Amino acid sequence: MKITRIETHVLLDPGYDAAACSSAQDDLVVIIHTDEGITGIGEVDTNPWVAQAMIHAPGTHVLGLGLEEMLLGQDPRNPEALWDKLYEGSYMTGRRGLGICAIGALDMALWDIRGKALGLPCYQLLGGARKPDITPYASLLPTGHTAAEYKESLVNKAKEAKSLGFTAGKMEVCVKGPYTHNGLHESDDTIVDIVAACRAAVGPEFVMMVDVCYCWTNAKQALRVLNQLEPYDIFFLETPLPLDDLDGYAFLHDHSPIRIAAGELQNTRFEFLDLMDRGKVDVAQPDVGRVGGLTEARRVCDLAADRGRLIVPHCWKTGIGIAASAHLSAATAHCPYIEFLPAQLSEAPLRRELVIDELQLVNGRVPLPQKPGLGIELNPDALAKYRVATR
Ligand SMILES: [Mg+2]
Repeated sequence: MKITRIETHVLLDPGYDAAACSSAQDDLVVIIHTDEGITGIGEVDTNPWVAQAMIHAPGTHVLGLGLEEMLLGQDPRNPEALWDKLYEGSYMTGRRGLGICAIGALDMALWDIRGKALGLPCYQLLGGARKPDITPYASLLPTGHTAAEYKESLVNKAKEAKSLGFTAGKMEVCVKGPYTHNGLHESDDTIVDIVAACRAAVGPEFVMMVDVCYCWTNAKQALRVLNQLEPYDIFFLETPLPLDDLDGYAFLHDHSPIRIAAGELQNTRFEFLDLMDRGKVDVAQPDVGRVGGLTEARRVCDLAADRGRLIVPHCWKTGIGIAASAHLSAATAHCPYIEFLPAQLSEAPLRRELVIDELQLVNGRVPLPQKPGLGIELNPDALAKYRVATR
C-alpha cells in the first residue's frame, strides 16, 4: 500500500468570534489517500492555515524537507517509522510547536489507515483494551458577558451534563488572566464563588475538574486560592500558571491540596518530560493532535506510567480528535477520563456537525469503539459548508 495524495481542509465557523475562548471555531482536517482506496482522517487544534502550509510546503534542504513530499509513495501502515522520518526531515522547521501539530494531524490519519487496512480499531494496535469502557468528562465552557451570567451559564451546563449521564465534568472558570472569556476580569473570590456554585449544583458524587486557563502569574497566589478550593473536592485543577513557569508548577505539586494538570499545548514527549520531571504535574494532558499524533501520545503515556502520573487527554475539537483520545484511553490503564465536549452542550457548529457516526455516550460511558481505524466518518455536507481553503 502506498500514499498517493494528501488532502487538507481549513474549516471556519462563519460566526467565529476572536474574543471568545473556544478554539473549536476552526479546524484543519487531513485526509490521506492510498492506492488501495483506503483513506485516513486526522485533525489538529492549531492555526489551520499555517498547519496546512506546513504540510504542503516543498522542502528545500535535508533539515527542512516537506511533510507531504516525505509521505507520498510511503507505506502508511508504519506510522511510528513515518513519525521518526517526518520529525528528522523537518528538524529545522518542525521539532516543536506548529510543525509537530502538522505531523500530529498526519499521524492520526496514518493510524486510521493502519486500523482500516488490518480491520482493527486503533486501540487494538496501541496495545489493546486496558478497561471495559471509556469514561468521558464533559468539558463545559459557559457563555455570558458578566461574572453573574457566566456563573449561571456554567451551573446550567453542569446540571445538563449530569442529566445527560456524565459522571464527571470540567468547569472552565476563565474569568481572569490573559485568556479570559469575553474580556472578563474578575477576582480570585469570584473563582471560588463559581466553583462553589457548581459543586452545589452537581452534588457530592459528581467528579469535578476546574480549568483556570493560566490565570495566575505567581505560584504562591495560586496556592492561596487552591487552598480555598480544597473543600469543593476538585479532581484536578488545570493550568494555574504560565506553561513556562515549570518551577512554579513544581511548587504547586509540592504544596497544593489539589492535583495539578497541564499539557494541552505541549508538543512531543520531550516537552512532557520537562512538564513531569521539572514541573512535577500530577496529571499529564496530551492533546493527541498537538503532541504529535497517536504515535507520540502513546510514548507520553508510557513515560507517565513510569512516573506514576495520570493521563487525561485534552481535546477541544470535533469527533475526530475525540475518537483519537478514546482509542488512546482504551489502551492506557492510567487514563481515568477523556475530555469530551458533548455536541449537545457545544456552541460550535463544527463540533456538532463535522463527524457522523461518532462515538456515543451510553449511561455516562463510551463503549469501546468497534469499527476499524478511528471508526468515524466525515459529514461531507459540513465539510463543504465550512471549508475556506482546500489543498
Ligand atoms: Mg484548558
